[in-house]
Amino acid sequence: MDCLFCKIINKEIPATIHFEDDDIIAFEDINPNAPVHLLIIPKKHISTLNDATDEDTLLIGKMVRTASQLAEKLGIAQSGYKTIFNCNKDGGQVIYHIHLHLLGGKKL
Ligand code: AMP
Ligand code: ZN
Repeated sequence: MDCLFCKIINKEIPATIHFEDDDIIAFEDINPNAPVHLLIIPKKHISTLNDATDEDTLLIGKMVRTASQLAEKLGIAQSGYKTIFNCNKDGGQVIYHIHLHLLGGKKL
């Protein structure tokens, strides 16, 4: 599949990875909008949030939990952060493999 994030999962394209397990990978955004800007993605290819099913509920919950755990690890849990899913054109989605943005380290 010609998907940039699947290529990162398959290590065909490099990324600075902060967390990885069987279900999820989290890496630095190449064009950060904040001192901390990570993308948390499922290893399962899901194009948009609209394509997630009941079967994906636990996986998406795990993405959100991973974001808060990484925020803690990176020292921004107390100062605060934003978590964002962009969906489709009006949502500003550019890469069609769902990803949760974790942004922090400054007032957003
Ligand atoms: P979105 O607009 O929600 O689809 O966000 C896509 C994000 O992926 C943007 O913030 C990009 O900077 C980021 N991005 C694009 N290519 C790469 C890459 N090769 N490695 C890491 N992040 C990337
Ligand atoms: Zn993909």
